[in-house]
Amino acid sequence: MIIPTLHSGISVKDSLDALAKKWPIDDKLYDLQVGRRSDVVDTQVNVSGVVFHVPALENDGLYVLWKCLWPDCHNCCERQGRLPLTKDDIAVLAKKLGYDSKAEFVRNETGISSWQEEGVGNLITTLSMLSLKRKKDEREEEDGTPLRCRFLDDNGYCGIHPDKPGVCWLYPFASWLESDRFGKPVVHATFQFTGDCPGFYLEKSLDSIMPVLQEYAPKIYDYNMAVQRTTRENYGFISFVK
Ligand code: SF4
Ligand code: SF4
Repeated sequence: MIIPTLHSGISVKDSLDALAKKWPIDDKLYDLQVGRRSDVVDTQVNVSGVVFHVPALENDGLYVLWKCLWPDCHNCCERQGRLPLTKDDIAVLAKKLGYDSKAEFVRNETGISSWQEEGVGNLITTLSMLSLKRKKDEREEEDGTPLRCRFLDDNGYCGIHPDKPGVCWLYPFASWLESDRFGKPVVHATFQFTGDCPGFYLEKSLDSIMPVLQEYAPKIYDYNMAVQRTTRENYGFISFVK
């Protein structure tokens, strides 16, 4: 099962070109993100039970690494594509936003998001989940298009931190569950290149990203479990088409 990406239907190139007006983007990283590199290899790093897939540019002998540039950057909150909610998120956010009942919260503050992900073997996964509205009057057809999130303040702070949706804690990682050779589900994660994040950089060694992977592994693992509970208890739906 693939865990929600925040953006869809938007050209990565357009997003990167917009980003490049504010941040310097390395040419090699630009080419990678727009799909112009054919030498990208996958390095798997297992950290606390999460298998991270770190891309590397083979011809240059460089890993693609990441660190968040907040508070200097808050581009992901300015160009938010969708905020899908787990069942746990709904309970936490209903309380945070002052609702007595989850039903009332869902009615007033959420919409339904649906999107597709292409997985291994051309498997198309369609996901539908309740999403937190990024603006009060958000319309269904705005799902997947970048909007400035209503909770972002002028100084780059999130007004509902630390109770923000689980998906906000993960960006720019995308993650999914895959069975190992014994049939046991294993959590995998990699970067999602939406073109909105200036935090990627290139380095010859993985050393500098290890603390980041250690910090994100439990968040990613817990989030996958929360999404599992969400779909199992019919707060969200997943279907697969070959
Ligand atoms: S866009 Fe990237 S660098 Fe900027 S705040 Fe988001 S995750 Fe951090
Ligand atoms: S809820 Fe907070 S962290 Fe998530 S997109 Fe909005 S401002 Fe950013």
